[in-house]
Amino acid sequence: METNIHRLAEWIQTAEGTVVLTGAGMSTESGIPDFRSREGFWKRVDPQRVATVSALEEEYETFHHFYRLRIRGLERVHPHPGHQVLARWEQQGYIRGIATQNVDRLHQRAGNRQVWELHGNILQFHCHDCKKAAERSRFLQQKPCVHCGGRLRPDIILFGEWLPETTWSEAMEAVQQADLLLVIGTSLEVYPVNQMPQLCPGKTVLINADKTAMDRQLDLVISGKAGEVLQHVDQIVAKTEEG
Ligand SMILES: [Zn+2]
Repeated sequence: METNIHRLAEWIQTAEGTVVLTGAGMSTESGIPDFRSREGFWKRVDPQRVATVSALEEEYETFHHFYRLRIRGLERVHPHPGHQVLARWEQQGYIRGIATQNVDRLHQRAGNRQVWELHGNILQFHCHDCKKAAERSRFLQQKPCVHCGGRLRPDIILFGEWLPETTWSEAMEAVQQADLLLVIGTSLEVYPVNQMPQLCPGKTVLINADKTAMDRQLDLVISGKAGEVLQHVDQIVAKTEEG
Protein backbone atom coordinates (compact mmCIF):
# COMPACT_ATOMS: atom_id res chain seq x y z
CA MET A 1 0.00 0.00 0.00
CA GLU A 2 2.66 2.45 1.14
CA THR A 3 4.90 1.47 -1.79
CA ASN A 4 2.01 1.96 -4.23
CA ILE A 5 1.31 5.42 -2.87
CA HIS A 6 4.95 6.40 -3.27
CA ARG A 7 4.97 5.02 -6.80
CA LEU A 8 1.87 7.05 -7.72
CA ALA A 9 3.43 10.22 -6.23
CA GLU A 10 6.53 9.66 -8.36
CA TRP A 11 4.51 9.02 -11.52
CA ILE A 12 2.47 12.19 -10.99
CA GLN A 13 5.63 14.25 -10.63
CA THR A 14 7.35 12.79 -13.66
CA ALA A 15 4.38 12.62 -16.07
CA GLU A 16 4.10 15.30 -18.75
CA GLY A 17 0.33 15.24 -18.95
CA THR A 18 -1.83 13.38 -16.45
CA VAL A 19 -5.53 13.01 -17.08
CA VAL A 20 -7.90 12.10 -14.25
CA LEU A 21 -11.12 10.14 -14.64
CA THR A 22 -13.55 10.22 -11.73
CA GLY A 23 -16.74 8.35 -10.88
CA ALA A 24 -19.25 8.17 -8.04
CA GLY A 25 -16.63 6.98 -5.52
CA MET A 26 -15.01 10.41 -5.76
CA SER A 27 -18.16 12.04 -4.36
CA THR A 28 -19.18 9.54 -1.66
CA GLU A 29 -16.87 11.14 0.92
CA SER A 30 -18.81 14.36 0.38
CA GLY A 31 -21.93 12.44 1.35
CA ILE A 32 -23.42 11.85 -2.11
CA PRO A 33 -24.80 8.33 -2.49
CA ASP A 34 -23.17 6.25 -5.17
CA PHE A 35 -25.19 4.44 -7.83
CA ARG A 36 -23.74 1.02 -8.32
CA SER A 37 -22.07 -0.12 -5.11
CA ARG A 38 -23.84 -2.37 -2.63
CA GLU A 39 -25.30 0.47 -0.62
CA GLY A 40 -25.89 2.54 -3.74
CA PHE A 41 -28.74 4.79 -4.59
CA TRP A 42 -30.07 2.62 -7.40
CA LYS A 43 -30.76 -0.21 -4.95
CA ARG A 44 -33.55 1.93 -3.52
CA VAL A 45 -34.77 3.74 -6.60
CA ASP A 46 -35.15 2.08 -9.98
CA PRO A 47 -33.23 4.29 -12.47
CA GLN A 48 -35.23 2.85 -15.33
CA ARG A 49 -38.26 4.54 -13.87
CA VAL A 50 -36.88 7.99 -13.19
CA ALA A 51 -33.63 8.81 -14.97
CA THR A 52 -35.02 8.17 -18.43
CA VAL A 53 -36.41 10.11 -21.34
CA SER A 54 -39.68 8.18 -21.05
CA ALA A 55 -40.07 9.16 -17.37
CA LEU A 56 -39.47 12.79 -18.33
CA GLU A 57 -42.01 12.62 -21.13
CA GLU A 58 -44.64 10.38 -19.57
CA GLU A 59 -44.24 10.58 -15.77
CA TYR A 60 -43.00 14.09 -15.23
CA GLU A 61 -44.19 14.21 -11.58
CA THR A 62 -41.99 11.23 -10.63
CA PHE A 63 -39.08 12.52 -12.71
CA HIS A 64 -39.33 15.97 -11.18
CA HIS A 65 -39.65 14.69 -7.62
CA PHE A 66 -36.52 12.53 -7.98
CA TYR A 67 -34.32 15.31 -9.39
CA ARG A 68 -35.66 17.93 -7.03
CA LEU A 69 -34.60 15.70 -4.11
CA ARG A 70 -31.16 15.16 -5.58
CA ILE A 71 -30.66 18.89 -6.28
CA ARG A 72 -31.84 19.80 -2.78
CA GLY A 73 -29.49 17.15 -1.37
CA LEU A 74 -26.54 18.81 -3.12
CA GLU A 75 -27.15 22.09 -1.29
CA ARG A 76 -25.75 20.48 1.85
CA VAL A 77 -22.60 18.92 0.39
CA HIS A 78 -19.15 20.36 -0.16
CA PRO A 79 -15.96 19.28 -1.92
CA HIS A 80 -13.79 17.12 0.37
CA PRO A 81 -9.99 17.33 0.81
CA GLY A 82 -9.46 14.93 -2.12
CA HIS A 83 -11.21 17.39 -4.44
CA GLN A 84 -8.93 20.14 -3.11
CA VAL A 85 -5.86 18.04 -3.90
CA LEU A 86 -6.98 17.62 -7.53
CA ALA A 87 -7.64 21.36 -7.83
CA ARG A 88 -4.17 22.15 -6.48
CA TRP A 89 -2.56 19.62 -8.84
CA GLU A 90 -4.16 21.33 -11.80
CA GLN A 91 -2.87 24.73 -10.63
CA GLN A 92 0.59 23.24 -10.09
CA GLY A 93 0.56 21.81 -13.60
CA TYR A 94 0.50 18.14 -12.59
CA ILE A 95 -2.82 17.36 -14.24
CA ARG A 96 -4.26 18.51 -17.55
CA GLY A 97 -7.89 17.95 -16.75
CA ILE A 98 -10.57 15.77 -15.22
CA ALA A 99 -13.09 13.70 -17.12
CA THR A 100 -15.93 12.98 -14.73
CA GLN A 101 -19.03 10.80 -14.65
CA ASN A 102 -20.30 12.86 -11.73
CA VAL A 103 -22.97 15.49 -12.29
CA ASP A 104 -22.51 17.29 -8.95
CA ARG A 105 -19.95 19.94 -10.01
CA LEU A 106 -17.81 19.32 -6.94
CA HIS A 107 -14.60 19.43 -9.01
CA GLN A 108 -15.46 22.92 -10.27
CA ARG A 109 -16.44 24.04 -6.80
CA ALA A 110 -13.05 22.87 -5.51
CA GLY A 111 -11.37 25.00 -8.19
CA ASN A 112 -10.66 22.71 -11.16
CA ARG A 113 -10.98 24.53 -14.48
CA GLN A 114 -10.65 21.81 -17.09
CA VAL A 115 -13.49 19.42 -16.32
CA TRP A 116 -15.13 17.28 -19.00
CA GLU A 117 -18.62 16.45 -17.74
CA LEU A 118 -19.25 13.14 -19.47
CA HIS A 119 -22.80 12.83 -18.12
CA GLY A 120 -23.65 16.55 -17.98
CA ASN A 121 -24.51 18.30 -14.72
CA ILE A 122 -27.49 18.48 -12.44
CA LEU A 123 -27.16 22.15 -11.47
CA GLN A 124 -27.98 23.80 -14.79
CA PHE A 125 -31.28 23.46 -16.62
CA HIS A 126 -32.89 23.64 -20.02
CA CYS A 127 -36.18 23.03 -21.76
CA HIS A 128 -36.59 19.48 -23.04
CA ASP A 129 -38.63 20.78 -26.01
CA CYS A 130 -36.98 23.98 -27.29
CA LYS A 131 -33.55 23.29 -25.62
CA LYS A 132 -33.24 26.89 -24.35
CA ALA A 133 -31.55 27.44 -20.99
CA ALA A 134 -33.87 27.70 -17.98
CA GLU A 135 -33.71 29.05 -14.43
CA ARG A 136 -33.05 26.69 -11.56
CA SER A 137 -35.89 28.23 -9.54
CA ARG A 138 -38.40 27.60 -12.33
CA PHE A 139 -37.39 23.96 -12.51
CA LEU A 140 -37.63 23.54 -8.71
CA GLN A 141 -41.09 25.12 -8.72
CA GLN A 142 -42.09 22.77 -11.54
CA LYS A 143 -42.95 25.65 -13.82
CA PRO A 144 -42.96 25.29 -17.61
CA CYS A 145 -40.49 26.85 -20.07
CA VAL A 146 -40.99 30.62 -20.48
CA HIS A 147 -40.39 30.35 -24.24
CA CYS A 148 -42.54 27.41 -25.30
CA GLY A 149 -44.32 26.01 -22.24
CA GLY A 150 -42.26 22.81 -22.47
CA ARG A 151 -40.91 20.65 -19.65
CA LEU A 152 -37.79 21.83 -17.81
CA ARG A 153 -35.02 19.43 -16.88
CA PRO A 154 -31.44 19.40 -15.58
CA ASP A 155 -28.53 19.36 -18.08
CA ILE A 156 -27.81 15.70 -17.38
CA ILE A 157 -27.63 12.80 -19.79
CA LEU A 158 -30.59 10.50 -19.19
CA PHE A 159 -30.70 6.80 -19.92
CA GLY A 160 -31.62 6.54 -23.57
CA GLU A 161 -29.89 9.79 -24.58
CA TRP A 162 -26.74 10.34 -26.62
CA LEU A 163 -23.57 11.24 -24.75
CA PRO A 164 -22.32 14.82 -25.29
CA GLU A 165 -20.20 14.37 -28.40
CA THR A 166 -17.80 17.32 -28.11
CA THR A 167 -17.08 16.71 -24.43
CA TRP A 168 -16.44 13.03 -25.06
CA SER A 169 -14.15 13.58 -28.01
CA GLU A 170 -12.13 16.19 -26.09
CA ALA A 171 -11.80 13.87 -23.10
CA MET A 172 -10.90 10.88 -25.28
CA GLU A 173 -8.29 12.95 -27.10
CA ALA A 174 -6.75 14.03 -23.79
CA VAL A 175 -6.65 10.40 -22.62
CA GLN A 176 -5.01 9.31 -25.87
CA GLN A 177 -2.27 11.89 -25.33
CA ALA A 178 -1.76 11.27 -21.63
CA ASP A 179 1.28 9.54 -20.25
CA LEU A 180 -0.60 8.90 -17.00
CA LEU A 181 -4.29 8.19 -16.49
CA LEU A 182 -5.49 8.31 -12.91
CA VAL A 183 -8.89 6.68 -12.47
CA ILE A 184 -10.65 7.43 -9.18
CA GLY A 185 -13.79 5.97 -7.65
CA THR A 186 -15.28 4.10 -10.56
CA SER A 187 -15.62 0.38 -11.07
CA LEU A 188 -15.32 0.99 -14.85
CA GLU A 189 -18.39 -1.13 -15.56
CA VAL A 190 -20.03 1.21 -18.01
CA TYR A 191 -19.29 1.55 -21.71
CA PRO A 192 -17.72 3.69 -23.13
CA VAL A 193 -15.91 5.06 -20.08
CA ASN A 194 -14.43 1.61 -19.41
CA GLN A 195 -12.54 1.91 -22.73
CA MET A 196 -10.45 4.83 -21.50
CA PRO A 197 -7.66 2.84 -19.78
CA GLN A 198 -7.01 0.82 -22.97
CA LEU A 199 -6.90 4.02 -25.04
CA CYS A 200 -4.26 5.61 -22.84
CA PRO A 201 -0.75 5.06 -24.19
CA GLY A 202 0.78 5.80 -20.78
CA LYS A 203 0.54 4.30 -17.33
CA THR A 204 -2.87 3.63 -15.77
CA VAL A 205 -3.72 3.79 -12.08
CA LEU A 206 -6.95 3.07 -10.24
CA ILE A 207 -7.89 4.31 -6.78
CA ASN A 208 -11.08 2.58 -5.68
CA ALA A 209 -12.68 1.34 -2.47
CA ASP A 210 -13.82 -1.98 -3.98
CA LYS A 211 -12.15 -4.46 -6.28
CA THR A 212 -13.16 -4.16 -9.93
CA ALA A 213 -13.18 -6.52 -12.89
CA MET A 214 -10.71 -4.14 -14.58
CA ASP A 215 -8.00 -4.34 -11.89
CA ARG A 216 -5.69 -6.61 -13.89
CA GLN A 217 -5.71 -4.30 -16.89
CA LEU A 218 -4.27 -1.39 -14.92
CA ASP A 219 -0.62 -0.79 -14.09
CA LEU A 220 -1.31 0.07 -10.47
CA VAL A 221 -4.34 -0.40 -8.20
CA ILE A 222 -4.63 1.32 -4.84
CA SER A 223 -7.57 0.26 -2.76
CA GLY A 224 -8.89 2.90 -0.43
CA LYS A 225 -11.07 5.96 -0.16
CA ALA A 226 -10.39 8.60 -2.80
CA GLY A 227 -9.95 11.51 -0.37
CA GLU A 228 -7.63 9.64 1.99
CA VAL A 229 -5.41 8.23 -0.76
CA LEU A 230 -5.15 11.57 -2.60
CA GLN A 231 -4.17 13.44 0.55
CA HIS A 232 -1.53 10.84 1.29
CA VAL A 233 -0.09 11.06 -2.24
CA ASP A 234 -0.19 14.86 -2.07
CA GLN A 235 1.83 14.89 1.16
CA ILE A 236 4.58 12.89 -0.55
CA VAL A 237 4.46 15.11 -3.65
CA ALA A 238 4.71 18.24 -1.48
CA LYS A 239 7.60 16.80 0.55
CA THR A 240 9.56 15.92 -2.60
CA GLU A 241 8.94 19.41 -4.02
CA GLU A 242 10.41 20.99 -0.88
CA GLY A 243 13.48 18.74 -0.93
ZN1 LIG B 1 -39.00 25.62 -24.24
